[in-house]
Amino acid sequence: MSETQNNYHNLNIQPLKLKIGPYEVKSLSTASFGLDGGAMFGTVPKVLWSKTNTSDKNNKILLDCRCLLLISKDKKILIDTGLGADFEKKYGEKLGENFYTHYNIKKGEDSGIIKALKKINIKSSEITDVVLTHLHFDHAGGATTVKNGKSVPTFENATYYIQEKNLETATHPNLREKASYYECNFKPLIEAGCLKVLKGPAELFPMVKVHITNGHTLGQQTIWIDDCKTSLLYCADLIPTATHVRLPWVMGYDLEPLKLISEKEVELKRALDKESYLFFEHDPYCSMAQVMHSKNRKDYRLKALFNLSS
Ligand SMILES: [Zn+2]
Repeated sequence: MSETQNNYHNLNIQPLKLKIGPYEVKSLSTASFGLDGGAMFGTVPKVLWSKTNTSDKNNKILLDCRCLLLISKDKKILIDTGLGADFEKKYGEKLGENFYTHYNIKKGEDSGIIKALKKINIKSSEITDVVLTHLHFDHAGGATTVKNGKSVPTFENATYYIQEKNLETATHPNLREKASYYECNFKPLIEAGCLKVLKGPAELFPMVKVHITNGHTLGQQTIWIDDCKTSLLYCADLIPTATHVRLPWVMGYDLEPLKLISEKEVELKRALDKESYLFFEHDPYCSMAQVMHSKNRKDYRLKALFNLSS
């Protein structure tokens, strides 16, 4: 990417390969898109956030939609599915067109997850499990695909996982989140009988646990992969980019910012104690970081940045 990459937060980004327990852990970058910088950083002034995340003429900043793939002998587990593809087919002509312009998505670059898997020679039929952190379109858009004019599960042999609370809120969205939840991204999973609805924290697979946070949206799951030596937290929208590691730096999109801050504090404390890798779904430049305390020890700062291999 640009020069910024090497100077991002004044830290070098180190390439990294990772194995945790039985899993090869792979990062899959599925699409670049753009959102309003102000909305991404809430009350943080632009003079501060623009130091690391420069904006275009429409004040949009560059973001990634980065998924995680865990490969063991008998499983291929995907975490989140990106934006999806063929927006006109999926959302209808008008709304679909708007997707490209509103979110700075280049046509032809929207079929992220399938393309990203293809690059490492994996077919959609090989995916055994799909953990959806929440059902906002930038996380669950790739969960379904339009075939013969109908949205169907993208991963035909997979079991999908979602929290009950999030499914409820997606089915009856409040006014603020209405533009983020679309039935076509999750209803086909229910109809196909492949959506497993979870009620709270759980160990889904050996060494893979889901935690629940409610500050961004109700029933978001963050995922810990931990073999007691090495651990990784898939932060989802609890900490969308490396710049959001500071406790008060939360998104304007978050439903309950104060709740989100305390949930973030719990996970950052754990990540610091265990020297875990934080995996960022939306950071445009780096996929992972480790953290340290700020000088007064009341907040957190970036200690090292990484790019996890695919
Ligand atoms: Zn998101």
